[in-house]
Amino acid sequence: MIDKFPREVVIDFAGMSEPFLNTEAVEMLLYAHRMGHPVCLYTTLMGLTLNDLKKILTTIPFGKKKNTLVVHLPSDNGEEHFIINDEYLKMLEFLVFSGVKINDFHYHGKKLEARVAEILERSKYKPIYCPPMPRAGNIQIKGMAAPKKKRGKLACQIFDGKGFVVLPDGTTLMCCMDYGLDYVMGNLDRDTFENVLNNEVYREVKRKMKSNYEDIICRCCHFSYAINGLGKFDEMKWGKKKIILGLKLLMFNHCGILYRWLRRIGREVGILERRQKTDDEFLRL
Ligand code: SF4
Repeated sequence: MIDKFPREVVIDFAGMSEPFLNTEAVEMLLYAHRMGHPVCLYTTLMGLTLNDLKKILTTIPFGKKKNTLVVHLPSDNGEEHFIINDEYLKMLEFLVFSGVKINDFHYHGKKLEARVAEILERSKYKPIYCPPMPRAGNIQIKGMAAPKKKRGKLACQIFDGKGFVVLPDGTTLMCCMDYGLDYVMGNLDRDTFENVLNNEVYREVKRKMKSNYEDIICRCCHFSYAINGLGKFDEMKWGKKKIILGLKLLMFNHCGILYRWLRRIGREVGILERRQKTDDEFLRL
């Protein structure tokens, strides 16, 4: 499957579970690197052995040529499924003091597990606390409200629709938020990379992101952001600016004649040639 990707495509070993739970992940990672792809590894180290870790670190120059390494650490409340035994602690210690550049260490609970914290305290690394992610509303997190649906046109902060996830059977998903497997772009085991990029579902996703209300997972995702008036209105705090934007939106949507008249007497005097009320027109205000 890796041979189907153009060389410049960055291959992440991550997605929806720990990559090393797949016994062939080490070979796949090394193969992707050998084939000239930049690789990113997101791991808890679960499923990995010390020998495999040494092999990976001596083969792939992390921190160079877009290769990145991110390590998830266990919290003290057992929130994540870690097996913290001597082998794990030995591996973590080796990694931390290996001299290899690690992009970040992070954890999702309130505090780091005590033995893990002790190892990190002796190193130059400062682990980062990342709140758990509800995966665009696909996961319910205790004590966290479900994400609110965003309105308006959206763009994606990180993937722009191109952060596909390939599952072991080749099923190719829109991104790592799609835990419900609702946005299948194809199957890279049998389709070409170009077919997946030109896929109908992918085009549909882009179209829905550009609409104002159409239902799509991105409306609940914290990586999406508003790119037109409607979404910006929702994001603004109450104040003069929000009231003015609200009035403009109201006029634009419900009182076309008044809206056009105000535009004509405003700084943009001229004949309004476009007859259709489009969101793009509103953006040019
Ligand atoms: S906005 Fe969220 S759900 Fe939509 S493509 Fe980006 S990461 Fe995926």
